[in-house]
Amino acid sequence: MLFAVLSACLAGNPAFCGPVVLTGRPFDTVSECREQAPRFAADWLAGQPGLTQDGLECRALSDLAALPLQPVAEGVHVHLGQIAPFEDSPDGRIANLGVVIGRDSIAVIDAGTSRAQGQALLAAIRGISDKPVSHVILTHAHPDHALGASVFAEAGAAVVGHGRLADALRTRGPVYLDNMTRIYGSAAMIGTRIVLPDVAVTDRLEIDLGGRVLTLTAAGPAHSDSDLTVLDRTTETLFAGDLVFRGLTPIVDGSLPGWLAWMEGAGHGGMIVPGHGPVAADWSSAILPQQTFLTALGDATRQTLDAGLPLSRAVPAIVEALRPLSGEWIAFPDSAARDATAVFKELEWR
Ligand SMILES: [Zn+2]
Repeated sequence: MLFAVLSACLAGNPAFCGPVVLTGRPFDTVSECREQAPRFAADWLAGQPGLTQDGLECRALSDLAALPLQPVAEGVHVHLGQIAPFEDSPDGRIANLGVVIGRDSIAVIDAGTSRAQGQALLAAIRGISDKPVSHVILTHAHPDHALGASVFAEAGAAVVGHGRLADALRTRGPVYLDNMTRIYGSAAMIGTRIVLPDVAVTDRLEIDLGGRVLTLTAAGPAHSDSDLTVLDRTTETLFAGDLVFRGLTPIVDGSLPGWLAWMEGAGHGGMIVPGHGPVAADWSSAILPQQTFLTALGDATRQTLDAGLPLSRAVPAIVEALRPLSGEWIAFPDSAARDATAVFKELEWR
């Protein structure tokens, strides 16, 4: 299998270039690729105002950058992200990404931070299966999970997400793109664009990959306001997205009471793939540390509100109250302060 790889550059700034794999057009032979690649490259560039072509070549799959994928169950593979906040990551590849292979097709669960990461995920998938990727399921709108989706959309996958995902991406997507470009640079983010979901899940949806059914469940506001879980019923593997953090300090960007309620009500008998951190064999090892942290966050915030502290004094007090738990959590100081601010504002009027 061969792919045309375009060197795309920022128009007017040829110092910022990066490889764009034309994932919608794999080729069987070099001659076929060489003959057809220019037209496909031109078509792709036509949809990318602001980019120009610097070069075009045909590369074998083995010559493409591929993300490490590990099998965690029959037909289930996971890319484990770096357990780090964006600022401490060289490329933003911090989220866990999942792949479930059915008899007929493949579902990808989260697509990474950039087009480059999405491309590397697709290359890794093509190293283990040539079945079509029928679905890219986004567990929520955050950039480390959602920004690589265009790679799979171009390869023919339906983009699936929570009923509120489209609004979240419309509102915040441009800011996420700006932030990631500021942190990692234009070259690393070249070709990255927001794609909106084709399929919105308002409650539950089943996707059949051929002898293998995934159950998608939309959550209420919790980690974010567009959280979606994916259950592979064949292996009872639950992709929890960022409803479950392990090791990296949980970030509240939806609703703390909503998140606590989700943990109380969810439960799961099989393996859990968190959005960040190692795969967990059981529910309690997946949930307990996060539940302890978030419960303490709520309690400490409530105390500052009951004491009538203003936000400026409440935030350091909440962070101090959580500090005994900090040893378990990477990026604690910054994330805890951010959580304290968000939760103070949420609970202030409740
Ligand atoms: Zn998130």
